[in-house]
Amino acid sequence: MSKKPIITVKNLVKKYDNFTAVDQISFEVFEGEIFGLLGPNGAGKTTTLEILETLRNKTSGEVFVDGFSVDKDSGSIKKRIGVQLQAAGYYPNLNLTELIELFSGLYGIAVDPIEMLSKVALTDKAKARYKELSGGQKQRFSIATTLINNPRIVFLDEPTTGLDPQARRNLWDLIRSIRDTGTTVVITTHYMDEAEVLCDRVAFVDTGKIIGINSPDHFIDELVASGFEREKQVKSANLEDVFIQLTGKDWREV
Ligand code: ADP
Repeated sequence: MSKKPIITVKNLVKKYDNFTAVDQISFEVFEGEIFGLLGPNGAGKTTTLEILETLRNKTSGEVFVDGFSVDKDSGSIKKRIGVQLQAAGYYPNLNLTELIELFSGLYGIAVDPIEMLSKVALTDKAKARYKELSGGQKQRFSIATTLINNPRIVFLDEPTTGLDPQARRNLWDLIRSIRDTGTTVVITTHYMDEAEVLCDRVAFVDTGKIIGINSPDHFIDELVASGFEREKQVKSANLEDVFIQLTGKDWREV
């Protein structure tokens, strides 16, 4: 993988009145990687993402996205990124084809709705209304909308929260396939198993500071080398493996 930075953050600070939500953080995201922002609730992950997405103003520091400054070129950044909207952003009574047409109209870009839906395995739902989709289908659809403008970077904020194990694993395949076409992915998640298998690198954020940034393997090896041992011997399968084994790995079209 190339180590060319596509996002550079230097001494970023965000204050809400007197409260410092993001406290002098600096990091880079490399082109073509899946980069995870991990940390407890209130750590400052969403605030950081929204500043990178040009949706929120920073207090101080420098942020460059694909070479453009968030201060001077937010319009250029918006054209180059895909941002996953929360479900509330969709009209529940429009069908998926109509929603893709609506979004592509907003971007001023002509796309084939069926082609976009095929990227997320939803062509058979082209005429279904958004509100008729299952949780996993809604997440896949929202990821399709991030791809409409053929972005260089997509931002996914907890994309698998609330999904069943099949939907979650299928979403991992989808996110990897986006990365494999050369798009950089920035993701937040509370699931450490997910970050471990999906992310090329992760940053741990706590109380507005980055307390570690490296590959999941590196962090785990470092912890093991320090003498850490799990209390209970880990079995070579877990209950989620049993779940998948028993119920299959097919897409569930509830
Ligand atoms: P995370 O995504 O890691 O859960 P957030 O970035 O949402 O964290 O929030 C970081 C901190 O900033 C939290 O303490 C939160 O209460 C606070 N915060 C977030 N948004 C606002 C806001 N608009 N006004 C005031 N405080 C906020």
